[in-house]
Amino acid sequence: MRNLSTDLNHLAINTATIKQWSLEQIVEGCYARGIRAITPWRHDIEKAGLAIARSWFKDAGIAVSGYCRGGFFTTSDEKDPLAINENRRALEEATELGAAGMALVVGGLPNGSKDIEGARAQVVEGIAALLEYAKVLKTPLLIEPLHPVLAADRACVNTLRHALDICDELDPDVSGYLGVAFDVHHLWWDPELQAQTQRAGKGRLMAFHVCDWLVPTKDVLTERGMMGDGVIDIPKLRGWVEAAGFDGLCEVEIFSAKDWWTRDGGEVLDVCIARHRTAV
Ligand code: ZN
Repeated sequence: MRNLSTDLNHLAINTATIKQWSLEQIVEGCYARGIRAITPWRHDIEKAGLAIARSWFKDAGIAVSGYCRGGFFTTSDEKDPLAINENRRALEEATELGAAGMALVVGGLPNGSKDIEGARAQVVEGIAALLEYAKVLKTPLLIEPLHPVLAADRACVNTLRHALDICDELDPDVSGYLGVAFDVHHLWWDPELQAQTQRAGKGRLMAFHVCDWLVPTKDVLTERGMMGDGVIDIPKLRGWVEAAGFDGLCEVEIFSAKDWWTRDGGEVLDVCIARHRTAV
């Protein structure tokens, strides 16, 4: 396994972790601490302006480790079936930023629907349509399986096996433009996780998101813990992805309405660095 305790070369910060700061503050805060990769959200880029945000990243020597996010293929909007136009725009932004890829939160059940099989079929259709464009733009798509409690409202793809099945169906040759985001918060509980991680291999493992699972967790969406504060054996999971060939970044992604979002952004970044060294 890689040694993370000596440098910050493998650390990335998802901007949602420091929601209390603007994108410009996050870039400055990361730069000052030697963090060299950031994954922004679309609303950050919209607020800052794409060209300006890109210049901040460039001037600070900070790589764009990902882009949050595309997906929500199951939204039933007649004007944009499968949300393809919206996803194409997001993918163009990711490309202009030079992002390493774009995460897909695939969407849950359409309003009023009880048809999860139908929703899953829509997801496959949507990703298939978007994948062609991803190849043109040369920006990979990362399916992010979410914890099953979020199946109805956010993502009806809930296991690594399911995400990989979709990858294999749509991209049997492992083109490098379709893979998965492995988020410890969503996947840690799965008894098949080690075997499926091995199956994924280097060709599909495109991102590794870290935080922790607190006990109790009342709100799966906004109550994530700092690495080391919960029950996930993060080094074990990192060992699995690295044994499978993953050599990318460990991206800290913490949604924490009651704790980390209420603290000073600089303190949050300092703790992220410390825990990256000791608990990831
Ligand atoms: Zn994630």
